[in-house]
Amino acid sequence: MTALEERWRRVLDGMSEAERHASRPAGSVRLVAVSKFHPASDIAELCRLGQRDFGENYVQEARAKQQELADLDIRWHAIGAVQSNKAKDVAGRFFLLHTLASEPLARGLVRRLPEGAVQDVLIEVNIGEEPQKAGVMPPDMPAFMEALLKGGLVSEGGPGLRLRGLMCLPPRCGEGEEARPWFVRLRELRDSLARQSGLALPELSMGMSGDYRQAIEEGATIIRVGTEIFGPRPVRP
Ligand SMILES: *Cc1c(COP(=O)(O)O)cnc(C)c1O
Repeated sequence: MTALEERWRRVLDGMSEAERHASRPAGSVRLVAVSKFHPASDIAELCRLGQRDFGENYVQEARAKQQELADLDIRWHAIGAVQSNKAKDVAGRFFLLHTLASEPLARGLVRRLPEGAVQDVLIEVNIGEEPQKAGVMPPDMPAFMEALLKGGLVSEGGPGLRLRGLMCLPPRCGEGEEARPWFVRLRELRDSLARQSGLALPELSMGMSGDYRQAIEEGATIIRVGTEIFGPRPVRP
């Protein structure tokens, strides 16, 4: 077994353990392997072992890997900030966009999406209300969602942008128990927005290498794990 396979299997074991601990059904959490800066050959190796979901932060890097690995059955996740002028490189090209946080980006995506196509999206929430971080502030979420819905930019069932839930990168993310209260807040925010809007918002994308167990215990449906799978990240190529 390669070191990469060993680390990946260790994360799968950690996920199963957290699911059991939280009395959640086995397999209820999707693992997105965050492959930013790591070579396409690592992605191919994991894909052969059965890993299907991969996350990339930079649209250009993701598009290059998509082209190189076009023969493989991969679900690509866009997890980094997307400028609205890059909407054409994202719309219809990713299984899930985790970082919708502005109306201009939503409009750009809608404009670039092929007729009748569906693009699943999550709204990135700046759950800790940190000025330097991306995402919509929690107090602004009701108005943001209403603007997207009333403007016909998102819907629950598609076609077009299909709003599936929320994503966050909390303060002190990666630090185990320190992140847990923020995961609770994101789940509670989702519950309250779902009540207000009538949408299910089933997906919660939260938890990384250092805190994915806590995220699973607090209701994550998607975790995004890089370092624990691929090892330390090389510098940006
Ligand atoms: C890089 C990154 C991750 C993975 O972080 P690790 O600590 O390496 O697991 C997860 N989510 C986002 C948004 C990232 O940018």
